[in-house]
Amino acid sequence: MNYYSTNKKAPIATLEKAVVKGLAEDKGLYMPENIKPLPQEFFDNIDKMTFQEIAYTVADAFFGEDVDAESLKQIVYDTLAFETPVVPVTETIYTLELFHGPTLAFKDVGARFMARLLQYFLKKEGKLGKGGEANVNVLVATSGDTGSAVANGFLGVDGIHVYVLYPKGKVSPIQECQFTTLGQNITAIEVDGVFDDCQALVKNAFMDADLNAHMKLTSANSINVARFLPQAFYYFNAYAQLKKQGKADQMVMCVPSGNFGNICAALFGHRMGLPIKRFVAANNANDIFYNYLQTGEYNPQPSKATLANAMDVGDPSNFARIHELYKGDHKAITSLISGATYKDEQIAETMKQCYAETKYVLDPHGACGYQALKDLLQPGEVGVFCETAHPAKFKEKVDAILSTDIDIPARLQAFMKGTKQSIDMTREFADFKAYLMQQ
Ligand SMILES: *Cc1c(COP(=O)(O)O)cnc(C)c1O
Repeated sequence: MNYYSTNKKAPIATLEKAVVKGLAEDKGLYMPENIKPLPQEFFDNIDKMTFQEIAYTVADAFFGEDVDAESLKQIVYDTLAFETPVVPVTETIYTLELFHGPTLAFKDVGARFMARLLQYFLKKEGKLGKGGEANVNVLVATSGDTGSAVANGFLGVDGIHVYVLYPKGKVSPIQECQFTTLGQNITAIEVDGVFDDCQALVKNAFMDADLNAHMKLTSANSINVARFLPQAFYYFNAYAQLKKQGKADQMVMCVPSGNFGNICAALFGHRMGLPIKRFVAANNANDIFYNYLQTGEYNPQPSKATLANAMDVGDPSNFARIHELYKGDHKAITSLISGATYKDEQIAETMKQCYAETKYVLDPHGACGYQALKDLLQPGEVGVFCETAHPAKFKEKVDAILSTDIDIPARLQAFMKGTKQSIDMTREFADFKAYLMQQ
């Protein structure tokens, strides 16, 4: 299948090119030329299929023309070696727990999938370097979770070096450990700035002719099709789990959103026929999308630091994809997607209330999703919100708000034993460029 740029000024790309390049030449995001509807029969039987079987069916629709069936199956099965249970929180509100992967982040699936797919293409072309030589360099800007998921997804993968750029002092200590302690083919770069500065450095690097002549660069942010599309698997699986309980007829899916990759994948699923009634994009104080829904105007803003820091995004990349998916039709978008926005005080209040009433420990991101369903769910509907991070990743904040002492899963503790290694960087592109030119 071919991919075109949302800006329509770049050449059409193959899947391989879209994955290796990340961003199109015109700074647009790649979109698949068509989104294949899945047959009714699939939806009729989905509740009898395993997560891996469901995911393979979805993956085949996107990638089946470009990856042979056996390899694709292996990639999918390797990527999804964990569960994403749908757990009741109240009578009508369920949570889709997406934090049971290797770094307890929903981004684990996309990161691992992308690493395996890149490796597949490098191998197929005989381009895999000897002696650990990096053929492709992945640049990733993170406000926390992306860095750990990408670093761990790519750790030890031949032929690929990963540079994780993160804002100094703005990610939680546990998150920082997850990508600064790995070594091998992972380099952490601590930027004296905010997330948007990190994202700007990465975007500028992709556009820089000297750098591109010097090294092959790609992105593992959700601008990369191989990173965000596999997240569609989650929503098919969530639907399957609710259908099994006879609760899927009026399913509302609520996604706490930052760069809007996750909800965008859900919307691709909807376009493939997934019978979700409507969507809610839950935001923290970074309310750019919310304002777009109200006014039809998209006005990027500098990001604001909040309790839900993985959603501190002032110019969500995947807005371009959502806009393109509905051909810019504001009415079509608002009739399917609602928005909600919550300040830190409300997030903390929601966490407290939910804990007092249900004993469920929300993390600050999931709290936005839960509150949005509380506010927007209509009678007869069943709401599912994504719990996008394990609360222990934000242990200091969660414990302070709930007066708890929540357990840190063993998998997280293991990361905290390593030694931090990172490179200091200013937010000036010239400095970042000079550094990369020496690699
Ligand atoms: C990345 C992330 C989000 C936002 O996801 P997007 O795909 O960027 O919208 C929300 N919560 C957590 C915990 C995350 O790590």
